[in-house]
Amino acid sequence: MAAHPNLIAQNAQFTKRIHELAPGVYTAVGYAASNVHLLVGNEGIVVIDTTETTQAAENILSDFREISALPVTTIIYTHSHRDHISGATVFAEGRDVEIIAADNFASDLVDVDTSRPVPNVALMARTKRQFGISLSPEERVSLGVGPGDRPMKGMGAGYLEPTLRIGETTVITREGYDLKLAKAPGETPDHLIVWYSQDRILFSGDNFYHAFPNLYAIRGTPYRDFESWADTMDQLLAYKPEILAPGHTNPIRGAAAIATALTDYRDAIRHVVAETVKGINAGLDPVTIAAGLKLPEELAAKPYLQEFYGTVAYASRAYFAGKLGWFDGNPTSLGQLPPSVEAGKFLSLAGGAKHVLSAAEDAVEGGDFQWAMELADRLIAADECSAAARQIKATALRGLADQTINAPTRNYYLLSARELTE
Ligand SMILES: [Zn+2]
Repeated sequence: MAAHPNLIAQNAQFTKRIHELAPGVYTAVGYAASNVHLLVGNEGIVVIDTTETTQAAENILSDFREISALPVTTIIYTHSHRDHISGATVFAEGRDVEIIAADNFASDLVDVDTSRPVPNVALMARTKRQFGISLSPEERVSLGVGPGDRPMKGMGAGYLEPTLRIGETTVITREGYDLKLAKAPGETPDHLIVWYSQDRILFSGDNFYHAFPNLYAIRGTPYRDFESWADTMDQLLAYKPEILAPGHTNPIRGAAAIATALTDYRDAIRHVVAETVKGINAGLDPVTIAAGLKLPEELAAKPYLQEFYGTVAYASRAYFAGKLGWFDGNPTSLGQLPPSVEAGKFLSLAGGAKHVLSAAEDAVEGGDFQWAMELADRLIAADECSAAARQIKATALRGLADQTINAPTRNYYLLSARELTE
């Protein structure tokens, strides 16, 4: 078992460290899946985002106490994903702390509440696979935009409700910092970015990180608005930031480098939209469109557009489904046979289950893992030689896991392989 070397190298983006961005302004990277930003004033600290676990938040606060002993008085959530809102109680330390979020802030924590009706049970299982929860640190080498090895204690436990919701662009002054808060829909519709004009620092939430944008999350997310996200990159560019402090991965310094990165990010999203629309209008199905879609060479070479987190193919398929729904346009699909029925017919046409099993074994041995899985799936669906088919599928999943640079896919493959053989 050896993960893709580029995915391992991506870990340099979240080496555990507190970066000083400007006098009094810090970003804690690598303690958790996401970053925490701390702005130290004369009498208190403003915190932007709080990580996914109370343990990670405690580790950050404890290290930060060597820099400042002042109390945290204001917390700003850039958006409602739980890796940004779950350590608030730790920073509040029992005090009444102001919590600021966008007026359409909707806590993502409800998505993992199993007491709610379906599909949240499935969503939780898929979330565990995407983030490799319960995989060993050797297996879960990365989250793509955060370290694979990080504290798990207090996951989702330290959330505090917002006390101030921002509707329009607003300038607030807290602890001596004049901060412009602006809504900026992107990875989520409820994004709130923070602009500190004095030192030209932009806290961009998850609208940018050092990886291809996660326009679709395989844990199962509703459609993310591609056009809004791309337009928001123009909004970020207009600030002309000299330091970009994202919600994940290292900060970027230098106006020119930041402008190039934000422009490339925008253009990559728009390229996926344009090429997918072209394919749709040519009457192609989403799988064919995704299989043929590549970023232009210049964009594909950019380090912050590597598919460590999102992928071009998943994005294209999400755009198709978001605009046209599940139907691929082929009338055959309207009455598609259920897998168990199709599998039975396929096996008999192929000369029986033993024949297909042996082809699946050959495919695994030859490294044709995807085809091996597609054959194994028929055996499993028809419940013929299914124990052997599960082993083959698990082997193929582990083989693919080591080939992909996409962390969510790797984690999903590895946890699925374990589930198949348990
Ligand atoms: Zn995040």
